[in-house]
Amino acid sequence: KLSDRLRKVASFITPGSYFADIGSDHAYLPCYVCMKDNEAHAIAGEVNRGPYESAIETVTQCNLSSRIDVRLGNGLSVLNVDDGIDSVVIAGMGGALIRSILEEGKAHLRNVSRIVAQPNVDERQLRKWLYTNDYTITEEEILEENGHIYEIIVADKNAERNPFKEGILDRQFLFGPILLHKKPQVFYRKWEHEAFKRERVIGEMKKASKQNPEKLSAFQQELQWIQEVLSNGR
Ligand code: SAM
Repeated sequence: KLSDRLRKVASFITPGSYFADIGSDHAYLPCYVCMKDNEAHAIAGEVNRGPYESAIETVTQCNLSSRIDVRLGNGLSVLNVDDGIDSVVIAGMGGALIRSILEEGKAHLRNVSRIVAQPNVDERQLRKWLYTNDYTITEEEILEENGHIYEIIVADKNAERNPFKEGILDRQFLFGPILLHKKPQVFYRKWEHEAFKRERVIGEMKKASKQNPEKLSAFQQELQWIQEVLSNGR
């Protein structure tokens, strides 16, 4: 059974899409999508040989070799211009790694209209990259599974409604422009915990013999934002 996390990621792939799943591991996600949607095609990219071989095995077992191409290589470099990919999925890695995969592979994104990303940490870095590169965040989800909280970020090229607003950009990068607006229950759980972590770090920084005033005030600023958001500000 596919995890709720990957099921939710899959729900953001448009019907009939030709998409790439980068860091596909067992290729569970492209197999799930292509079994449900007869028109869908995919490329499963993997940088490591072990997962690459697992991906081939899953695709073969599911009888999907004609619609899912498993490729070994780093990030988006497995894609060719004439593949005609419309969407890219990158899930289950840190936001910094997702960001660097997108940045390094920018040239391969020219015809990609949708990016579906599920960063495990550091969502902020990814949102900043999307904003800087003219992708608009059109959907965001937060969910809890097996004691972990996951965020899913969907970004489209040339989308009409841009949720980013000058003046509150840094907050939007941190919390997510759409999550900040919807504020579901899990969002509160995540940020209560994040506030607790920052309080602890700030306490430790104040006690330390070597002070770093810039870092300290950055943490204090974030803690203040979190407290405002939790107590109903936006
Ligand atoms: N996407 C799956 C998911 O969400 O369940 C698998 C996540 S798994 C934790 C991360 C996978 O990304 C690993 O299989 C790893 O080999 C692969 N990976 C890491 N860096 C990569 C890169 N630069 N290019 C392609 N794959 C990469």
